[in-house]
Amino acid sequence: MSDETRTTETDQAEFLAELLAAGLLIESGVDGVYGHGEVFEFIRERLTAIVSEIAKSHGGAAKLSFPPVIPRRTLETNGYVGNFPHLAGSIFGFEGSEAQAMEQGARAAAHEDWSEFQSQTDLMMLPAACYPVYPALADRGPLDPGGVIVDIGASWVFRHEPSIDPARRQSFRMHEIVRVGEPEAVEAWRLEWSKLGVELFTELGLDAHLENANDPFFGRIGRLLAANQSAEELKWELLVPITGSEPTACASFNYHLDHFGEMWDLKLSDGGPAHTACAAFGQDRIVLALLRTHGLDPDKWPTTARLRLWG
Ligand code: AMP
Ligand code: ZN
Repeated sequence: MSDETRTTETDQAEFLAELLAAGLLIESGVDGVYGHGEVFEFIRERLTAIVSEIAKSHGGAAKLSFPPVIPRRTLETNGYVGNFPHLAGSIFGFEGSEAQAMEQGARAAAHEDWSEFQSQTDLMMLPAACYPVYPALADRGPLDPGGVIVDIGASWVFRHEPSIDPARRQSFRMHEIVRVGEPEAVEAWRLEWSKLGVELFTELGLDAHLENANDPFFGRIGRLLAANQSAEELKWELLVPITGSEPTACASFNYHLDHFGEMWDLKLSDGGPAHTACAAFGQDRIVLALLRTHGLDPDKWPTTARLRLWG
């Protein structure tokens, strides 16, 4: 382990301990899964409201909401299972006999392995807030001219990446705004939201900057996919220092070209495949960035940041 890694891990462990001691986070016993105290939620709820207000005042947005689980078929079709097998969470359930239920219960009570009684269900954990939007919109038939903007609010998402870093959760809140429409409009929208993101973070007193990025695709083929995504500038991230020497991605602005349009048969008014983009705000990370930058007590934050949040 390098000195830098050790310093980062110490920093993360100390920050996590402070957050738990202050009651901002509540321990669950599993790395990357926390409850939120009142102050954490007080900040997070305002962030949701502000991002929704921005969406409303920039072209308006239809509000849709989806559960934190997603049909397995959707993640099979959109390639998530193949591209991110290390992050995906599948839901299993029991369909056995009474005798098997007894055995499962006994083993569970003793914290022994009871996985042999479980079989895969039709559901998986939702890994990104925007995934249910594309098939849902496609079901409505061709888009109206000009396309659509959707505000999905703050969704609970799951990624199997246990860590002691309080900013790397397994279960976290992602607020996404999605744009679907003609190519030029969608590309311009992504650029506009990347600027709106920088503006918002700056108003909140965060030291934020945009960078070209890529998703953590799995394996050797994944490295090629990531290189391609990066070369085409399809993912921009808004980075803010939280712990350690490297800043952390607190939001991303993603352009999918006609990938989802083709995949889901999501059509423009003229019958061509729709282009899509999304702006994804990692709410827990933004709250942590604020707490780290301004301190654990929002009453003592700089006036400008307080005004932007609470008016
Ligand atoms: P992504 O779809 O990976 O671009 O994620 C959107 C946003 O969600 C990121 O910019 C982060 O702010 C946040 N995020 C991603 N992964 C995690 C995680 N494991 N824990 C907390 N927040 C995350
Ligand atoms: Zn998205």
